[in-house]
Amino acid sequence: MIVDVPDCLFCGIAAGQIPATIVLDGKRTLAFRDINPQAPTHVLVIPRDHYDDVAAVAEAGGGLLDELVSSARAVAEAEGVEDSGYRVVFNTGADGGQTVGHAHAHVLGGRPMTWPPG
Ligand code: 5GP
Ligand code: ZN
Repeated sequence: MIVDVPDCLFCGIAAGQIPATIVLDGKRTLAFRDINPQAPTHVLVIPRDHYDDVAAVAEAGGGLLDELVSSARAVAEAEGVEDSGYRVVFNTGADGGQTVGHAHAHVLGGRPMTWPPG
């Protein structure tokens, strides 16, 4: 883990250097709206510190992955989709569709999701 990676988009958002619409501001996590929303609710939850992907967050331990998932649930509650349902997605690696190399959970809701994903 490296606390702040130069040229990392989400490190820049966590540092407040790149603007984002913040939904929940936690000590170790930050939730903000996706710039290209795929559902009425589309929020990204990141660890403030840099980890390449969710596997690295899991490996680091210390309850950070629990906090990410708890923050995802808090986002769903704040957005009013906890009862209708929502999807939490960690795209991981190239085939997983990960395009930003700073771990993040997508929280998607406000419409029925389809399965399988594309
Ligand atoms: P991934 O493709 O890595 O799973 O997800 C990256 C997400 O970051 C995409 O859904 C994309 O729309 C979003 N994103 C990319 N650049 C920005 C940005 O500058 N600001 C915000 N808020 N979201 C971004
Ligand atoms: Zn980063």
